[in-house]
Amino acid sequence: MQFTKNQIQRLSELGCDFDAEHSFASADARELAFKEMERRSVEKNRAALRDLRKAKDAPFVSALSESISAFLRGLGFLEVSTPIIISKSFLLRMTIEDDHALFKQVFWLDDKSCLRPMLAPNLYDISKRLLNVYEAPLGVFEIGPCFRRESQGNKHLESFTMVNFVEWGVLESQKTERLKELISLFMEHVGLSEYSLEEEDSVVYGDTIDVVVDGVEIASGAFGPHPLDSNWDYAGTWIGLGAGLERIVLMQENLDSIQKTGRSLLYLGGISLKLK
Ligand code: ATP
Ligand code: MG
Repeated sequence: MQFTKNQIQRLSELGCDFDAEHSFASADARELAFKEMERRSVEKNRAALRDLRKAKDAPFVSALSESISAFLRGLGFLEVSTPIIISKSFLLRMTIEDDHALFKQVFWLDDKSCLRPMLAPNLYDISKRLLNVYEAPLGVFEIGPCFRRESQGNKHLESFTMVNFVEWGVLESQKTERLKELISLFMEHVGLSEYSLEEEDSVVYGDTIDVVVDGVEIASGAFGPHPLDSNWDYAGTWIGLGAGLERIVLMQENLDSIQKTGRSLLYLGGISLKLK
C-alpha cells in the first residue's frame, strides 16, 4: 500500500523529502506516517517563513530581479521599464499573427490590446529613440512580467518574469562570441555555471541559441540583422537574450515545480502558505 495521490500532492507542496514509492503494511500505518510527515513539514515551513521575515530578504524572484538589474547595469546596460499592455500592431510587427503558435497564447484585453507575451517589441520600439541619443554599441534591458496561455505542467506559468537584454551595434565579426560571453557572465552571476548551448529554430527569431540547464530551457538568445528589424526601423547588428526568472529560481533551488517560484497566493519564497 502506497501514499495516495492527495497525500503525495500535499507532501510535495510542503517540500517534504519523502519516498513516494514506499510501501505500508496497512492503511492505518500509511495514515500515521503521512500525518507525522505532514506535521513535521508544516513546522519546517512555519520556521522558514519566520526566518524569511527575520532575514528581511526579498523572496525569490524579487531578489533575483534586483540582483540581475544591478549586474546588467554594472555591465553598462541601460534599464528601461515599459508598459505591460501592448498593442496588437506590436505583435504583428513581430510577425505574431493569427496562424502563429504564440498568437494562441496571448491574453487579449480587447481586439486591439493584450498583455505582453514577451519584452522584445517594447525593446525594439524604445531603443529606436534611445539610439538617437546614445552611440552604439548600446546595451538595453528590461525585467518584468510577461503573460502566455500555457497548458504544460511544472515548467510553465501563465504569468512569469522575463529579463531581456539586447546589445545594439555589436561588431558583426564578434556577434557569436559576444553573445556567448554575455551568456557566460549572466549564468555565472545567477549561479548556474553548468549549462549547455543548443541551436534552436525559433518561430519568431529564426536561428537562436538556447541556454539549457539539466534539460530545462533557461533562456533563448538571438542575433541580428534580422528580417524583423525593418518593421522597427532598425538596420544594424544586435544580439539579445531572454531568460525566465522563475525558471532560474527553479533550477537554483532545485524545486519540483515552477509554481513555487513566482507570483503566487499559495507560496512565498518557495515556502507553502497552506499550513493549517
Ligand atoms: P518554452 O519552449 O520552454 O515554452 P519558449 O522558447 O517559448 O519557452 P521564449 O519565448 O524563448 O520561451 O522565452 C524566453 C524565456 O522565458 C524562456 O527561455 C523561459 O526561461 C521563459 N519562459 C517562457 N515561457 C515561460 C512560461 N510560460 N513560464 C515561465 N517561464 C517562461
Ligand atoms: Mg525559447
